[in-house]
Amino acid sequence: MAAKLCNLGMCLSRRNIYSRCAQWVQTGLCRPFSIQTRTELGVPSLLTSPPVDLLTPDEEMMRESVAKMAAEKIKPLVRKMDEESCMDQSVIDVLFQNGLMGIEVEAEYGGTNSTFFIANLVIEELAKVDPAVSVMCDIQNTLIVSLFRKYGTKTQKDKYLPRLATNMLGSFCLSEVDAGTDAFALKTAAVKQGDHYVINGSKMWISNAEQAGVFIVMANAKPTAGYKGITSFIVDRGTEGLMIGKKEDKLGIRASSTCAVHFDNVKVPESDILGEIGKGYKYAIEMLNEGRIGIGAQMLGLAEGCFEATIPYTKERKQFGKRIFDFQGMQHQIAHVATQIQAAKLLVYNAARRKEAGFPVVKEGAMAKYFASEVAALTASKCIEWMGGVGYTKDYPIEKFFRDCKIGAIYEGTSNIQLNTIAKCLEQEST
Ligand SMILES: Cc1cc2nc3c(=O)[nH]c(=O)nc-3n(C[C@H](O)[C@H](O)[C@H](O)COP(=O)(O)OP(=O)(O)OC[C@H]3O[C@@H](n4cnc5c(N)ncnc54)[C@H](O)[C@@H]3O)c2cc1C
Repeated sequence: MAAKLCNLGMCLSRRNIYSRCAQWVQTGLCRPFSIQTRTELGVPSLLTSPPVDLLTPDEEMMRESVAKMAAEKIKPLVRKMDEESCMDQSVIDVLFQNGLMGIEVEAEYGGTNSTFFIANLVIEELAKVDPAVSVMCDIQNTLIVSLFRKYGTKTQKDKYLPRLATNMLGSFCLSEVDAGTDAFALKTAAVKQGDHYVINGSKMWISNAEQAGVFIVMANAKPTAGYKGITSFIVDRGTEGLMIGKKEDKLGIRASSTCAVHFDNVKVPESDILGEIGKGYKYAIEMLNEGRIGIGAQMLGLAEGCFEATIPYTKERKQFGKRIFDFQGMQHQIAHVATQIQAAKLLVYNAARRKEAGFPVVKEGAMAKYFASEVAALTASKCIEWMGGVGYTKDYPIEKFFRDCKIGAIYEGTSNIQLNTIAKCLEQEST
């Protein structure tokens, strides 16, 4: 039987929405609201659009359970992991055990069989507690799993998706010493020899590399074709010639491993090419366009976590005989930051829902990442100021959020590049 459609737009009140959808969720007949859903039901979309930040019951259920799990299992380890610059294995395990590393992976592969929007909710919720844990989950879901689901052959999916969903981290290897923003200037080469390729080169800044069991490596298989020679290869950790290099000693997201990865005559069978030869640049652009929404969600969660950890203090701390929250000079700043966070949330959620509904997200994803990164930086900076001296110490989580937020403006395209992308889209729209 075709899945019954959970059309939030047809319900009159929030209570109706939840009770109707809760019943359908319970009976397994509900799937998240989407633009297609509305169209399928012939409902005029303009009149029936629910608020973008209204969560369906299954979205709310996921958000609550991740928040609870993060508070119980991750929060107690955050400071230690940051100080030691090391992800605790129990954190990785708990993410896998709760189905958070293969959120969109189909049930037949042992995945959670859920949605892109929910993946972003999870990334947001984890970042409220630890943005380093959040990015590990983000890369796994929005880059690695997405690449396998979209471009993997049946054999590749059968081999990797069950492991990615249950116990194996993946790394996305694009950047090099001289190929950062100009990523397609990469020098790592893949030379065909019989029925396999031999990869030589070095990658920089590779997240999750310390723990990853599989690496998706962008290498040029036809340098004479320029960037159109870039091809995606699947390389297992144990492959001879693959070496994990220096681990970076970073300002923030310190528990997330960031390492160089070297390839010294690494032999990869032709069958381990992901997708088509020469299409790697296209896959990287596509994945990063969508992945940026995840980084937006990470920065949004960071801002929310930082704000939530700060406001109670402003309501307790007294100076001049009253709560510092009661000073209008404080209230205006707090209200301003709260508004910025809500604006970031709407951009991130809308971009994620657009992707879910099959609409283009190049501009919206860039806007979400750019703006959420700015808001995270503003929030963390203001929260330290609102807490005074204690905000500057490690007794509170604020100084870590302040260090962690900076990465939002750097990886998966710097803020300058997001602005370039937005401007390019605007130019195309006006012609
Ligand atoms: C913690 C961390 C994790 C990472 N994880 C991964 C990963 O898993 N996989 C991976 O492949 N990479 C990863 N990266 C690499 C990351 O994507 C790059 O650092 C990023 O793309 C910027 O490249 P770059 O550092 O070489 O800076 P550069 O490209 O040298 O940029 C320096 C400055 O110049 C500006 N600039 C450059 N070109 C332009 C332009 N055309 N217009 C305007 N301004 C410009 C930039 O905006 C920036 O401000 C990670 C990086 C970090 C720090």
